[in-house]
Amino acid sequence: MNKYQEALDILHGFANGNLTRETTCDYQREKNDEYKDILQELVAKATPKKPSFDKSWEYEEIKDIYNEDGSINEIICLCPNCHKHSIYDSEYGVRFDYCHECGQALDWSDEE
Ligand SMILES: [Zn+2]
Repeated sequence: MNKYQEALDILHGFANGNLTRETTCDYQREKNDEYKDILQELVAKATPKKPSFDKSWEYEEIKDIYNEDGSINEIICLCPNCHKHSIYDSEYGVRFDYCHECGQALDWSDEE
C-alpha cells in the first residue's frame, strides 16, 4: 500500500469513528499531523504549477520560460517539482498535463 492510501485510510477510520479513544493519544495526534503532511503532498502535486526555467540553458539572452509574445517556450521548461524535462514531448510538440516523472500537475497558461 502506498503512503497516500495508508494516510487516507487512517483518517477515514477516524472520520467514521472506527478508532477507539485510546488511539487519540498524543502519539496518535502526532501521527495525524504526519498523515496530513503526506496528503498535503498529494494536494500540491494535483495543483497545477507553472513549469520552471531550465537554468542550464546555454543561451544567456534567454532569461525565463516565455517568448517575446508571452507564450511559453517548452524547450527551456523543467518540471517545477522534480526538475526533469518529462513535461513536454519535443518530437510531437505535446505539452503534458502531468509530469511523466513525478506526477506534478502543470499550468501551461501564457504570461499575463
Ligand atoms: Zn516532475
